[in-house]
Amino acid sequence: MTDRNPAANTGRKRIAILGCTGSIGTQALDVCRRHADRLEVVALTAHSRTRELVDAAREFGVARVAVTDAARRSDPALADLPAGTSCQFGAEAAVDVCLHDDVDCVLVAIVGAAGLAASAAVLASGKQLALANKESLVVGGELLMPLAREGQLIPVDSEHSAIFQCYLGERAERAHAIWLTCSGGPFFGRTRAELEHVTAAQALAHPTWNMGAKITVDSATLMNKGLERIEAMHLFGVDMDFIRVVIQRQSKIHSMVEYEDGSVIAHLGASDMRIPIQYAFSYPDRWETPAPRVDFRELGSLDFAAPDADAFRCLALAERAGRTGGTLPCVMNAANEVAVAAFLDGAIGFTDIDRVVEACMDAHAVEPVQTLEQLADVDASARDAARRAIRARR
Ligand code: NDP
Ligand code: MG
Repeated sequence: MTDRNPAANTGRKRIAILGCTGSIGTQALDVCRRHADRLEVVALTAHSRTRELVDAAREFGVARVAVTDAARRSDPALADLPAGTSCQFGAEAAVDVCLHDDVDCVLVAIVGAAGLAASAAVLASGKQLALANKESLVVGGELLMPLAREGQLIPVDSEHSAIFQCYLGERAERAHAIWLTCSGGPFFGRTRAELEHVTAAQALAHPTWNMGAKITVDSATLMNKGLERIEAMHLFGVDMDFIRVVIQRQSKIHSMVEYEDGSVIAHLGASDMRIPIQYAFSYPDRWETPAPRVDFRELGSLDFAAPDADAFRCLALAERAGRTGGTLPCVMNAANEVAVAAFLDGAIGFTDIDRVVEACMDAHAVEPVQTLEQLADVDASARDAARRAIRARR
């Protein structure tokens, strides 16, 4: 591949951000803005928000952009791209723009299973992968992890960044358990009957994190924690029972690793995704924080509780998917993506999300994971099944 400006390597780490218009993507751009002496943004992608993409391309003077929704090809905003910036369209373009020689590290901040192909391509290329897109690992962890060299895949999900850091300098085989923390979401303490009537607006009001719509609903159903448990299984090579979910209401403890001798190493800090995003870029170094520091004298208390898997059934469904393995996590994830979108559209209720996901999981004949193409087929069939289940509920 040819680079527009191969001489531009100034010693800065050269970054591609896939999904630069989202919650993680825009926070990553802020990290790059604050550390412009260390980070150079060379490629960006967006799906639909072409105006925001063009603004970022102009600000950072990037070589290449991609618009993954090919139907946006004629968006007037694209006329304002800088003269030297190339623009490609379609899902494959996200992979193309980040595999050039002028990219050192790719942040995959696309939402949903749509991020899997890019995550796999980045790992196969040998470039560093800063992975926010947890769905990649949930769906294709069995294919991705064997591709990852030591230190190549740095998790961005705050809990997994925390666990990664709690393992640093330790013998992994001496770990006894991972404590995966969970805020509990906006509906913590509600009964199943109370959850039947909650609205999308209530689900979108997360108490401690400001995130994209899909993950915010996942945080309200606790599917997010279920996905994260499967993500942690793959990242840290452990089984379901090793990973214990604990509610930590203030979201100040980002996760913990307990060792054989009873010592528990916790990662604490502000609830600000720019910290784990920046760490994925700076690793193994640490740079000046982008976020306000926590003053523990003013924090007051740290509260813990057990999650309620009877009310929040997605947690139990994810446990079943993670234990079963094979193509079941792919089906669960695809059905969840469709069900969450339907809930946000007002087509189904909050508790219908887990009913739709469960119906799709029950109907699926699990196969071992073999290829990305197989997963794409399973994903597409599960989305069809979820749409049928949603129509049946109306
Ligand atoms: P957002 O919905 O805010 O942003 C998603 C990004 O992906 C946007 O840039 C969007 O483009 C792009 N996108 C949407 N659909 C597609 C598609 N089919 N193909 C390619 N690109 C697409 O999501 P978040 O930033 O909240 O989350 C991104 C990922 O990071 C998720 O996997 C999430 O689980 C994970 N994560 C997020 C956290 C957070 O705090 N937000 C915390 C931990 C993990 P456009 O906007 O232009 O349409
Ligand atoms: Mg998380």
